[in-house]
Amino acid sequence: MTTNTKPDRGSVEMNSEECKGCGLCVEACPPKVLRLADRLNRYGYHPAVYAGHGCTGCGICFFVCPEPGGIKVLRRAMEPAAELAAACA
Ligand code: SF4
Ligand code: SF4
Repeated sequence: MTTNTKPDRGSVEMNSEECKGCGLCVEACPPKVLRLADRLNRYGYHPAVYAGHGCTGCGICFFVCPEPGGIKVLRRAMEPAAELAAACA
């Protein structure tokens, strides 16, 4: 069994109370880390939720979501590769 220890390059904050459950972000997410929840939000929709890991920070879900403020994408600041940092020292 292999374990992926690399940190995720991004993360998302889903505003489940604004979500209309259209599923566009779920379909569009390349690593498939979004899904529609079993529960209902205040509008009676199944909101999209994040699996909690595996996001690449690509931003595709943000661009396909028709709801303003439905999704916030956070990108992790990338650290320079060790060898590049050493070469520049
Ligand atoms: S930013 Fe990209 S990888 Fe992350 S949840 Fe959205 S579509 Fe998926
Ligand atoms: S695209 Fe937006 S409105 Fe549609 S399911 Fe995803 S978060 Fe909800």
